[in-house]
Amino acid sequence: MKAIQICETGGPEVLKLAELAIPQPGPGQVLIRVEATGVNFIEVYFRKGVYKASLPLIPGSEAAGTVEELGPSVTGFAAGDAVASVAVLGSYAEYALVPAAQLVKVPAGLSMEKAAAAMLQGMTAHYLAYSTFSLKAGDTALVHAGAGGVGLLLTQMAAKIGARVITTVSTKAKTELSLEAGASDVILYTEQDFEAAVKQLTGGKGVDVVYDSVGKTTFDQSLNCLRPRGMLVLFGASSGPVPPFDLIQLSGKGSLFVTRPTLWHHVATRAELEWRSGDVLGWAVKGELKLRTEYVYPLDEAAQAQTDLESRATTGKILLEP
Ligand code: NDP
Repeated sequence: MKAIQICETGGPEVLKLAELAIPQPGPGQVLIRVEATGVNFIEVYFRKGVYKASLPLIPGSEAAGTVEELGPSVTGFAAGDAVASVAVLGSYAEYALVPAAQLVKVPAGLSMEKAAAAMLQGMTAHYLAYSTFSLKAGDTALVHAGAGGVGLLLTQMAAKIGARVITTVSTKAKTELSLEAGASDVILYTEQDFEAAVKQLTGGKGVDVVYDSVGKTTFDQSLNCLRPRGMLVLFGASSGPVPPFDLIQLSGKGSLFVTRPTLWHHVATRAELEWRSGDVLGWAVKGELKLRTEYVYPLDEAAQAQTDLESRATTGKILLEP
């Protein structure tokens, strides 16, 4: 099978096309034929060595495809089923293994592209809005990178709940997308001081929650945007990791909360996985959750796909199709 392999950490050029054997499903595993795979920032962190993995590695954990073969003791799936997962063991490939416990069926009416686009960023937005800081109507949230993959989905979910969503984006074109997703106010943080803008937009009160995936360049000012006892949810590091931080600052700035969640702790049980994927895929089928999937690359252009994601050139989802 064709697969993208990394034998050393580094720039996008270490993503090399390779011819490898199709893996055999072990107990509890399912072999899927990958039809669309999601490109996510976490793969950039692994490629660069920011997150450690043993090499050689086939990157990628998100895909939609069809069941090819079941490993011993797997029940509940059959060959030909349309399925999707965020726990694929190397999704930048034509075939991949998935633990059956982390596999869900794709509802009828949803394309493979949309299913792959919805899973990881959609369930991330879901846990951020419904679990980490459980938004309610009337809350005000600040969402950084509002036209990004997670940003567009989180904005739609928060707006649907009835929260006021203020976003930050880097370009005017991204402003339009963010407004379409349901943002009430969009701040061009490359031109404007977003902290001053948030204070002005909230009459000096501050927001209830900041969802910050940008990290290094936004973290300090994000804290200053919160109301007393508000919550900063740091869930990514698109601009680089946040340096060590003295917790006493949380007291001085208003008894603030800071959390650093990841998706894996929010889909670890079958019940939570089915709740979040059921909501996200269900809303996508009904058209209640809009998925932007105009960035689709062939598998052998994985390096270009990651380059575009890193360079802030993209909006919404990036997909590879083997
Ligand atoms: P995005 O589509 O949001 O892409 C990243 C965006 O970050 C860019 O488009 C850009 O938006 C913004 N950005 C700001 N500064 C920089 C910079 N210096 N370099 C690059 N981008 C920058 O990506 P995803 O939706 O895939 O992921 C968003 C973040 O969420 C990532 O950090 C990812 O790791 C994290 N994440 C965390 C999860 C978790 O459970 N903790 C799960 C999924 C994703 P703009 O041009 O508008 O500034």
